[in-house]
Amino acid sequence: MSASLTSELAGRIAVVTGASSGIGEQVAQALARRGAAVALLARREDRLTAICADIEARGERAVPFSVDVTDSAAVDDVARRVRETLGPAGIVVNNAGIMLPTPLGDPEPKDWADQTALNVGAVNYTVLAFGGQLVEAAAAHGVADLVNIASIAGKTLFPGYSAYAASKSYVIHLGRSLRAELGPKQVRVTTVEPGIVDTELQSHIPSEESRERLAGTRTRIEWLTPEDVADAVTYTVCLPPRVNLAEIAILPTRQPA
Ligand code: NDP
Repeated sequence: MSASLTSELAGRIAVVTGASSGIGEQVAQALARRGAAVALLARREDRLTAICADIEARGERAVPFSVDVTDSAAVDDVARRVRETLGPAGIVVNNAGIMLPTPLGDPEPKDWADQTALNVGAVNYTVLAFGGQLVEAAAAHGVADLVNIASIAGKTLFPGYSAYAASKSYVIHLGRSLRAELGPKQVRVTTVEPGIVDTELQSHIPSEESRERLAGTRTRIEWLTPEDVADAVTYTVCLPPRVNLAEIAILPTRQPA
């Protein structure tokens, strides 16, 4: 680790949405290893409980909160319980998301709606529910972090995945705007734009043909691991308070865009 990075996150409270698998799980693990107390949010309670037990067995702090983040009242309730249990959140990683193909001519209105509800709606609810805590934590600790997990799909053309790509463009621009608003309050805003990562994400695609097309890219591209993305998130939140790494595009070396 560079000497310019702070060595640890002791005393900081982190919230990670979508922490029951993939990138969110690894981000929660990595932040806990650096000393943050971590609140893990997702729907699968059994997975959250097992991950928290694993973290706590190392002597670190992790608390599971089973919640559907598309339910704004439920997210508000979790924000209140996080504050009561751990204190004001000083790192919020807005990560929960789904990726479903939405080719025109093969309409699946529910897939459009579900992606908007989670990738856009839940991102908004999480910012709204935890924004005040971030400002409070920044005043107390000198810095706080909002990290939104977007996708490189939000910047490039992704035919057949318009709803997903557009939802991630929303996250990218939301991050830029929020950074301008929150920076003066010492809250850093970072948008992470991964290329393809080896997680459960692709397995939720209903069409076998679409799943196989994505899987076929493995013959020419070594996919990222969720740990690779977690390393980038950890790096940014450990930077000195004056430094805000605003956008991180993290791609497999052989993925063109
Ligand atoms: P996973 O499917 O492994 O993780 C998705 C997480 O979101 C799970 O923990 C899931 O938990 C949670 N989640 C889904 N729906 C809800 C809900 N309604 N309420 C609460 N939690 C929910 O995928 P990834 O780790 O890959 O995805 C994480 C993020 O990374 C997403 O935003 C994705 O778009 C983005 N990304 C992923 C890429 C990839 O190639 N994998 C590339 C670029 C970006 P549960 O089911 O228990 O609720």
